[in-house]
Amino acid sequence: MTVLRMLEQKGRDVFSVEPDNSVEQVAKILAQKKIGAALVLEGGKVAGILSERDIVRHVAAHGAMALGQPVSKCMTKNVVSCSEHDSVDDVMEKMTQGRFRHIPVIEGDELRGLLSIGDVVKRKIELSVRDAEELKRYIAG
Ligand code: AMP
Repeated sequence: MTVLRMLEQKGRDVFSVEPDNSVEQVAKILAQKKIGAALVLEGGKVAGILSERDIVRHVAAHGAMALGQPVSKCMTKNVVSCSEHDSVDDVMEKMTQGRFRHIPVIEGDELRGLLSIGDVVKRKIELSVRDAEELKRYIAG
C-alpha cells in the first residue's frame, strides 16, 4: 500500500504551528487535538517539527520558563519527509531508522499530509489480516 492510498483513507489535515508560537500554546493544541506532534511552518514551508517529547525534554532542561519560550528553541529542524509514492514499509523503515513517530508527506515543495506511527501500524495490521484471509481461502481451495 502506498502513502497516497493511506492519505486518501485518512485525510490530509495537518495541524501546524509557527516558530514564534510559545511552547505552552503548542502543548495546548497537542492536548486539545489529541495528537503527538505539530509541524512548524514558516511562510508555508516546513521549518521544523515539535513533538510531545521535545516539550518534555525542554521542560526538563529549563523548568517552567520553557513554556513561555518560542517553539523554534526546541523543535527539530532537520525534518525527514516521505513521498506519496513511498510504501507503508518505506515509511516504517524511515521511522525506525530515525526513531520518530511522525512524518510529513511532501511532494516537491507542497505539503500533502502527515502520518503517525499509529496510521502506519493500523494499515500494516489491515494488510496482514487480508493476507492471512487470502492464505486461508487458498488452503481451503
Ligand atoms: P516523535 O517520536 O515523533 O514524538 O519524535 C521524537 C523526536 O523526533 C522529536 O525530537 C521530534 O522532534 C523528532 N521528529 C519527529 N518526527 C520527525 C521527522 N519526521 N523528522 C525528523 N525528526 C522528527
